[in-house]
Amino acid sequence: MRRPDILNPLFAEVEMLDGVGPKLKKPLDRLGLERVRDVAYHLPERFVTRRLVDNLDEAGEGEQIVVRLTPTEHRSSRNQRGPYRVLAQDAVGNVLALTYFGRASYTAKKQLPVGETRWVAGKLERYGDMLQIVHPDHVLEEGGAGLQRLCEPVYSLAEGLTQPKVASLVAQAITLLPELPEWIEPSQLERAGWPSWSGALKLAHRAENVSARDRLAYDELLANSLALMLVRADNRARKGRALVGDGGLRGKLQLPFPLTGAQQRSIGEIEGDMAQEAPMLRLLQGDVGAGKTVVALEAMLVAVEAGAQAAMLAPTELLARQHFETLRAMARPTGVEIALLTGRDKGRARESILMGLLDGSIDIVVGTHAIFQDSVAYKDLGLIVIDEQHRFGVAQRLMLAKKGRRAPHTLAMTATPIPRTLTLANYGEMDVSRLDELPPGRQAIDTRVVGQDRLVDVVEGIGRHIGGGQQAYWVCPMVREAEGQSDDIAAAEARYAALKERFGDTVVLVHGQLAPEMKDAAMARFASGEAKLLVATTVIEVGVDVPAATLMVIEQAERFGLAQLHQLRGRVGRGSEKSVCLLLRGEQLSETGRARLALMRETQDGFSIAEEDLELRGGGELLGTRQSGDTPFRIADLEQIQRLLPAAHDDARLLVERDGGLSSTRGEAAQILLYLLERDYGVQLLRGG
Ligand code: ADP
Ligand code: MG
Repeated sequence: MRRPDILNPLFAEVEMLDGVGPKLKKPLDRLGLERVRDVAYHLPERFVTRRLVDNLDEAGEGEQIVVRLTPTEHRSSRNQRGPYRVLAQDAVGNVLALTYFGRASYTAKKQLPVGETRWVAGKLERYGDMLQIVHPDHVLEEGGAGLQRLCEPVYSLAEGLTQPKVASLVAQAITLLPELPEWIEPSQLERAGWPSWSGALKLAHRAENVSARDRLAYDELLANSLALMLVRADNRARKGRALVGDGGLRGKLQLPFPLTGAQQRSIGEIEGDMAQEAPMLRLLQGDVGAGKTVVALEAMLVAVEAGAQAAMLAPTELLARQHFETLRAMARPTGVEIALLTGRDKGRARESILMGLLDGSIDIVVGTHAIFQDSVAYKDLGLIVIDEQHRFGVAQRLMLAKKGRRAPHTLAMTATPIPRTLTLANYGEMDVSRLDELPPGRQAIDTRVVGQDRLVDVVEGIGRHIGGGQQAYWVCPMVREAEGQSDDIAAAEARYAALKERFGDTVVLVHGQLAPEMKDAAMARFASGEAKLLVATTVIEVGVDVPAATLMVIEQAERFGLAQLHQLRGRVGRGSEKSVCLLLRGEQLSETGRARLALMRETQDGFSIAEEDLELRGGGELLGTRQSGDTPFRIADLEQIQRLLPAAHDDARLLVERDGGLSSTRGEAAQILLYLLERDYGVQLLRGG
């Protein structure tokens, strides 16, 4: 099946839009805006409403305003990285600075000649004893058009892009939208009173419009449900094969602990599935630290005992490497050959692993998504394990399932407890095994909320902790990406420098942009116990397992989502020692922020945290802000998922039951939707995999 022609204009590359040259390509790529479709779907994060003021006395700090100003002086900063400032006066002589970072200063030079009056729009702030506007949204000449635009969309940006630039690309993309046949059930559409697809997209860029956003969210949910149902149908139709192990390899394992009842039960369920010809599609859900890795190992050994290979996919290189080490150590007595394959492996090393997978000398491979690239072929892949599965898109999961001559069995694992509604969206109708029992001897993690102003005391506490030979994590705040400002990495680096000054070489740093070798070296020193304090960004959020670490400090904890805090906290409390988690909170804490931290203090049960998280975030969130990496959606937020998913799911089910080949009129419209939204995924499915 080819992509329906009607979608061609939407799949044109962004380069065909006016004003997109090689320079813009990179920032657009970073935002995932490769095609006209992506630009049309780049919905505003929010809308800003500005007030027109005569002079600055009328405006409050933090307010979005439009004001007439006359530049009086341009000042470059002394050091190169500092800001470029244009001083300007309002009608009554108040002075304000227009502040620019980086290349934006060139624009400032052109747009703000001294002595000429300009209309300036932006957010009024105070910097020391000076008023300023950082990177004004608009600078227009006297009499220039567009001043009435007091309500405007605000788009997320990447460095090198500006709001007006994105707005102009969106405006062009919008004019290219074709009229598509309707895929939503007519009665549903009527009941909800939603606009057509193209109408909804246009509206959503123009103003806050619930109806338009709902429709677009519903489209996404419908596409997801349809895709999941098609996979399932496809999976049922594809022949797998029964893998029955004789226990020979598993019998040789010498685990340092007895398995919990929940682990044994899950292994039994998995074994039962694998012994069937129909491919297994099972989710292993277990709270942080419940011991999923060893269950995965047992399952992989079943595959190997039955003469097949197994592959384990991890979301980060850090985690892949750790799994590799853990599994290799545990499986040593079995003599099973385990390899690690990540995007980092190149040349000879990579070739040799690829050979081993092809000729079957490697039994188990652990890696990042590098393990399912086209160039990787297996002799006989029988089982795929996907760790932290919520981190992967549906497309990636599907691609992996296409490996192997016969459909392999799939075991997905997740530590993030997923509220019921999201389970449906993420996993469709997978079978679920639950590890609802933690290994014995675990103690509750003593969680405390501490003001950021007590940083000095906290550092002292760390000193005592590591002085006594114990290990600790220090997680730095999540900083929203903002132009010309520091980001997460900078925060972690600064904290690292300070702590290193205090505690010396025993402090190590890990963040996403470190060279892989440095990351490994730091992790290795920490895992071996040689380093005592690990400073990190959220890269350590999932999976990292160093049981000897017993103190976790999370800075500006209110900036993290609850599920994320739970994951981070789960890095400690993994051994039998008493562990402590300190949540440092900033000074300005919203009502919700307070409630969330209190909840963290009170409970340690991942499932109730997740449900509560959903409640707290509820409908109160700003339009379209995406708080969570836990859903596969770009438009639908949590509230919309809860409200709209059940209908979308039923709608999809009916459609597939009646018309599995999607050949009716509505079926064809649904195909268009799949092509439109499910990216490669829909395409792969329809190609008849
Ligand atoms: P997660 O479910 O978060 O992936 P892991 O598999 O990383 O958890 O296990 C967490 C820790 O618990 C590891 O150090 C692991 O060796 C240990 N562990 C796993 N199962 C048991 C058990 N039955 N008894 C004691 N410790 C266990
Ligand atoms: Mg894990």
